[in-house]
Amino acid sequence: MDHPFDYIVVGSGAGGGTLAARLAEAGRSVLLLEAGGDPRQLSGTNDYQPGINRLPDDYDVPAFHGFASENDAMRWDFFVRHYASDELQAKDPNMCATTAASRSTGSSTRAPAPWAAAPRTMR
Ligand SMILES: Cc1cc2nc3c(=O)[nH]c(=O)nc-3n(C[C@H](O)[C@H](O)[C@H](O)COP(=O)(O)OP(=O)(O)OC[C@H]3O[C@@H](n4cnc5c(N)ncnc54)[C@H](O)[C@@H]3O)c2cc1C
Repeated sequence: MDHPFDYIVVGSGAGGGTLAARLAEAGRSVLLLEAGGDPRQLSGTNDYQPGINRLPDDYDVPAFHGFASENDAMRWDFFVRHYASDELQAKDPNMCATTAASRSTGSSTRAPAPWAAAPRTMR
């Protein structure tokens, strides 16, 4: 890549997209890198209607907030375990756990400790 950029922004979400736009408006050259796809072009489903494409509705309809969080074409379904020790992991402020209830209801109940009963490695 021969073209130099003034800024490289990683992620075109609420923060990165806005920042990249503002920099471009100010006359800077910006390379914006985005790992995700276009929800209006993707197909994706969730646990409520397996096998049925729920896009773009899960993305477009505000009332489908919960569905959007669970749609397999949009969710970043992985977590990082920072410690090998369960004891240390339980103290990690970024600790996440999925309960049976959170999967069955689809709620975004991937909450940090201390409520989590037992730390576990997430995929
Ligand atoms: C379903 C839902 C509804 C919401 N509704 C509201 C609302 O009504 N009002 C409100 O104020 N907030 C709302 N929020 C919260 C709001 O969306 C977040 O607070 C906000 O998006 C966070 O912005 P961000 O830029 O930090 O991250 P994000 O918007 O998540 O952006 C991060 C971007 O980086 C990309 N990315 C990640 N890793 C890489 C990589 N390695 N390389 C390149 N790109 C990468 C991701 O694909 C993503 O596009 C909602 C959130 C959800 C999930």
